[in-house]
Amino acid sequence: MEQSWLDELREFIAIPSVSADPAHEADVRRAAEWVRDFVKRAGGEAELVRFGERELVIGEIQASASGGNAPTVMIYGHYDVQPPAPLELWETPPFELSERDGWYYARGIADDKGQLFTLLKAAQLLREQDELPVNVRVVSDGEEEIGGHTVVEFLEADERGADACIIFDGGMTRPEQPEFGLATRGLVGFHLKVRTGERDMHSGYYGGAALNAIHVLMQGLSAVVARDGLLPDALRVGRAPLSQAEVDSLKLLPKGWEILDDAGATPLDPKAADDFYDRTWAEPSLDVNGIRGGKPDFVNTTLIVEADARFTIRIAPGQDPETIAATAEKLIREAMPAEAEVELIHENSAPPGVFEPDSQAIQLGMEAFKKATGVRPLLVRVGGTLPIYPALAAKGIPTIGTGFALRESNVHSPNERLRVVDIDRAVAAAIELYRGLAALD
Ligand SMILES: [Zn+2]
Repeated sequence: MEQSWLDELREFIAIPSVSADPAHEADVRRAAEWVRDFVKRAGGEAELVRFGERELVIGEIQASASGGNAPTVMIYGHYDVQPPAPLELWETPPFELSERDGWYYARGIADDKGQLFTLLKAAQLLREQDELPVNVRVVSDGEEEIGGHTVVEFLEADERGADACIIFDGGMTRPEQPEFGLATRGLVGFHLKVRTGERDMHSGYYGGAALNAIHVLMQGLSAVVARDGLLPDALRVGRAPLSQAEVDSLKLLPKGWEILDDAGATPLDPKAADDFYDRTWAEPSLDVNGIRGGKPDFVNTTLIVEADARFTIRIAPGQDPETIAATAEKLIREAMPAEAEVELIHENSAPPGVFEPDSQAIQLGMEAFKKATGVRPLLVRVGGTLPIYPALAAKGIPTIGTGFALRESNVHSPNERLRVVDIDRAVAAAIELYRGLAALD
């Protein structure tokens, strides 16, 4: 990397833009101003735009010689970072960019300031040479790490749109093998509360005759958890199976058993390892995240009248959160005795995001990456939930979601790092993406 870039990146990294910590509110704003000023220095326009409670950086670097009909490419990245704690586990201070053994170390170098920097730098370099063939629309937020939705609200209200979007906020399962994430799972979350009496009872006097709230809770949850590895059919309605391109990618990814082994996980059922990608990419899944009831810390003989649980369902691409939430509620209520007092609170909801593998933007993007890195990206899905994906999909903006973080990048952990070569590679890939996407109809 050139010294001047390194100095810029070091300056950006040095701003401790920790969104989760109110003490760093001014730093988050400073990071926003840094992005804004970079876009301006690159010959574009940008401003901090207040949107509800929060601010976004919205900007644009116009195509060099467009004649007004150059395609518009949106780029998204976030300038906030995770808290660096525990500090004592860092080998060098988290907000000082340091280089050792072929890696850059710093909080945010991989997630996501370092990667956002490469998208901005590539646009600046092309613009400097009067060779920027697309309008680059910059959309950046400082609340990604705290689950903010402002960027989603911005996209919903935005009329200008874009012909494609590029997000560098992800990584590669294997080094040297880039991946484009074509789909994300959605999420619905519930709080289930059960009450079966006014106060806990003596199981000797009432056991066998009075309803136990923990049992009722178990009955309700049993109606929706996976059996033989899959959720009940009613909760699997609408899911989009893996495309052929996605199935082809599996050959080049680690085997399911390796991933489960690495995590020290116990397979859900005998087929879980073989079906790992199908299960986490194309199936909905349900996890009980916490359960509370009774007095498990003591030997006792109490009949319990109050219990509750929180659970979340990862919705598969193609599924509708409201439909799945309503179905889950129906299954749970039907499985519980009508006499129990049941409260089922639907706490949150996020749709899945799906992009077409055959779209022109994805295809041009694959070619561009091949040109820059020598390798054609794999088309994959993301088992997690990223609200910006469905928001872009709803706007019909095909999105190249990719990045250069590795599994060893310690994202969200101490000693976050990104390989030195990958900064240059990311800039090169972004340059080829801008060039390639110029061919968009
Ligand atoms: Zn991120």
